[in-house]
Amino acid sequence: MSLLLGIDLGTTNSLVGVMDSGFPILLADAEGSRLTPSAVHFASDGTVTVGAAALRRRALDPARTVTSVKRLIGRRAGEGDWQPPYALAALGTSPVQVSAEILRHLRGIAERAMEQEITRAVITVPAYFNDAQRAATKKAGELAGLQVERILSEPTAAALAYGLDKLGEHRKVAVYDLGGGTFDISVLELRDGVFQVLSTAGDTQLGGDDLDRALAEHLAPAGADPARFLEAAEAAKKRLSETESTRIELPFYDGTHSFAAEVTRVELEKLARPLLDRTRSHCLRALADAGLQAADLDEVILVGGSTRMPLVRQTVAEIFGREPNLSQHPDEAVALGAVIQAGILDGSLRNVLLLDVTPLSLGIETFGGLMNVIIPRNTTIPCKAGEMFTNAVANQSEMLVRVLQGERELARDNWELGRLVVPFPAGPKGSARVGVQFRIDADGILEVLARDTASGVDTVLEIRNTAVDVEDERVEAMISASVEHAFEDMNERVWTEARLKAEELLGAVAAALIQFGEAVTAEERAGIEAAALAVRAVLDGPEHDARALKAANQILDDATQELAVRLVEQAMEESLARRGLV
Ligand code: AMP
Repeated sequence: MSLLLGIDLGTTNSLVGVMDSGFPILLADAEGSRLTPSAVHFASDGTVTVGAAALRRRALDPARTVTSVKRLIGRRAGEGDWQPPYALAALGTSPVQVSAEILRHLRGIAERAMEQEITRAVITVPAYFNDAQRAATKKAGELAGLQVERILSEPTAAALAYGLDKLGEHRKVAVYDLGGGTFDISVLELRDGVFQVLSTAGDTQLGGDDLDRALAEHLAPAGADPARFLEAAEAAKKRLSETESTRIELPFYDGTHSFAAEVTRVELEKLARPLLDRTRSHCLRALADAGLQAADLDEVILVGGSTRMPLVRQTVAEIFGREPNLSQHPDEAVALGAVIQAGILDGSLRNVLLLDVTPLSLGIETFGGLMNVIIPRNTTIPCKAGEMFTNAVANQSEMLVRVLQGERELARDNWELGRLVVPFPAGPKGSARVGVQFRIDADGILEVLARDTASGVDTVLEIRNTAVDVEDERVEAMISASVEHAFEDMNERVWTEARLKAEELLGAVAAALIQFGEAVTAEERAGIEAAALAVRAVLDGPEHDARALKAANQILDDATQELAVRLVEQAMEESLARRGLV
């Protein structure tokens, strides 16, 4: 089946990606850039250039270079509050056709990267786009040779990229999107596993570009043209997201004058504050429209390159009273979400969803070399489960916990993921109490915690990835081996359990015969000894005959009934005597 592209068709920049072996990836062009400027140059000879190359031509040929066409798509001429510095009609083109050129270019990037023809896509649009704007975007896709399988709203895509679809029903999320030229705030709610847009607000004339202009004006000496300082201002602004102060040098910026100065983050933030304050009222408005308070939100996420600024993050934290989630690249989240949606649509995300369950059982080895499952296979993560164990022999002072993965009954046939040693005070058999807990977090990290309940001392082992991330072939091999060996494995388990029982019985019987030797009739003693010999014979026999061993155990158990009763009676008498009752 042909690949399905995920496309973020942005006002300033666009990105394209695909699902590749179950993972969403964004694709780079021949120059190694994943960000394609949404710019198209129409040369008078009919040649069309898209992306960074078109932007380079803009300096020489501004009237023939189209940018920000997203502001015009699906609108009637003159509608809206933005007038382009170019005339599309004079160029013989339309917003849909310009968008189609950008989409065709992105499709080409993907086809070269994936070395195959690609004809289907998911394309994102702002949440506030109306039907006409969505239909026009879809039309542009078709003109570019792409069947548009879904028009996805940008905040929803971002929420998908942040993995927020896993948050659970009725969880609410705010998406704060500050790009180059526009600001959008959206409030979403997860319903039936799908994000619903509860409200949107924003300003189509507010973004990082405004800050570039403000900084350029601030820098330009009296009489100089601030436009010449724009590029340097933007570069300095970006550097100031990382450092407190940066140097700007513009030799001969107008042919005769040179400029050099130090600019600080504090200066930039002074210029940025009034702009960012304008986002605050939109956020409050969106919350009110959704009928919510900031405290009702489960998460606030950031989208758009300008949210890399520390002051933006601080402002968002103040507005919503909580720290924003910073786990994704703000400028790639929408595209990544489009790719994830594409993966959901074409089914290739099933492999990734499988990562959310344990592909194989996890457990520990118990006495006798058996696998004791703690988390069965196909358990949804995150999860935790545990069990209590004790010492199988007297005077043991530590327990070795081998963490195993696999479906086989015997420990040795499963894979060992790690081991830890739990110390505890030596004592009689069965006196120790060691709790073992397995916990797998949402990232698939397994933490094994063993606690000696007497001392409360914890021993912890962390196992990364292997608990959840196992190659499909290995999982299949393990499962088919467990099916193939099911019969002998089960026999081995029953045999081992019977063997442990037999060894315990033989030890107890030998001790009792010494203690009560005189009280037992010769006949009784012969019967017991014969039964014990029979158990020993099966135990030492060449075959692991589980059924025969269980039967022999039973006979020995029966033969020692009276002895056992006497043992109990004597213990009782001793106990009463100790307490002075007889
Ligand atoms: P977008 O529309 O999401 O591509 O965002 C583009 C805007 O983000 C432009 O105004 C950029 O100057 C701005 N931007 C990108 N990176 C940074 C950064 N590190 N710090 C501040 N602004 C940035």
